[in-house]
Amino acid sequence: MLNYISHFFERAQHLTRHLHHLLGPPGSSCLTCGTRAVLSARYPGICTRCVQQIPWVRQIRCQRCGRGVGCPDCVRPHMQHRSFVCNRSAVQYNDLMREWISMYKFRGHERYAPLLTALLLQAFQAMSEELTRICGKETPKPLWRPDALTYVPVSEERLAERGFNQAERLAAGLAAAARIPGVDLLQRQINTGKQSFKSRAERFETMKHAFSIHPDGLNLLKDIYHAKGHAGSQSPMPVQLLLIDDIYTTGSTLDACGQVILAAAGHVGIPLRIYTLTLARS
Ligand SMILES: [Zn+2]
Ligand SMILES: [Zn+2]
Repeated sequence: MLNYISHFFERAQHLTRHLHHLLGPPGSSCLTCGTRAVLSARYPGICTRCVQQIPWVRQIRCQRCGRGVGCPDCVRPHMQHRSFVCNRSAVQYNDLMREWISMYKFRGHERYAPLLTALLLQAFQAMSEELTRICGKETPKPLWRPDALTYVPVSEERLAERGFNQAERLAAGLAAAARIPGVDLLQRQINTGKQSFKSRAERFETMKHAFSIHPDGLNLLKDIYHAKGHAGSQSPMPVQLLLIDDIYTTGSTLDACGQVILAAAGHVGIPLRIYTLTLARS
């Protein structure tokens, strides 16, 4: 499914670029503000004024969850056992980003897909550069790249309602753009309902049983591991996996997904390191 979507995305991006070229300046309507203006070459569909309003997370204050502001969350004791090494997000979840994401997620405006993917890609590149600086002792340092990427699944019920999973689409878009294999690793067991009405403790509790490993998930992990060519050696290199979602709020969803993947990988003796990347950090 993901491969198919990746392919579809590549075609769609190609077509969008082509259309931009044909319909581009002077004067196309900006996707997000509607003004007729010269559209950005880098962020599909929007004008330069809207580009300037993107609330990028530029300064990371919390190394763990990637927040741009002071973070009381990650020092809590139970946070020390989270399944992912760190999270990074493209933008802060302000009113403008809420609007862009909901136009896509709830109202199905497909034209937002290339734009949101471009934001995620930019954050991926920044994350990659940051982790390259931090990790590895070899010189010159090889650019940090995950071996594969996957996404937070939605329930069948939610999928039927919306027609698509925004996290899966974002992951497929990034996989195609960054040329990283995308894999379906997880499935959602239950529909957890609206998380936004729940307390932090309730969110963690509901999330514990929300996900399970996809029937093909373990084989995919094994393939990725063997493709690294370290299986059987004394100190095998861990598989580096990037997990994608649209919004990071408390991190409980990403943590729950990560726990399931870590447990499954541990079961078959595959060392694994999970990193997470989200479009917005609330
Ligand atoms: Zn605009
Ligand atoms: Zn934090």
